[in-house]
Amino acid sequence: MVKYELKFNDEHCKGCGLCANFCMRNILYLDDERINKSGYNLISITDPALCVGCAYCAIICPDSVIEVKKNG
Ligand code: SF4
Ligand code: SF4
Repeated sequence: MVKYELKFNDEHCKGCGLCANFCMRNILYLDDERINKSGYNLISITDPALCVGCAYCAIICPDSVIEVKKNG
């Protein structure tokens, strides 16, 4: 069951990778196959069910791209 939902404002992402580096579950990665209109690689999630909702990724993002929501 996926307890937390991550929403990315993709067009604001600059592909810095900070969120991926700070994710305690190591489930975020810079995706070579996805880019936004500005040409930056986007973040993808390996397994959303492993997210613990800590929101470190959202806090560390310099561009406020990520929103962490609890499901249910
Ligand atoms: S909320 Fe925490 S566990 Fe979930 S993706 Fe962000 S840093 Fe990783
Ligand atoms: S920290 Fe923010 S700007 Fe950097 S890759 Fe992650 S979502 Fe994109």
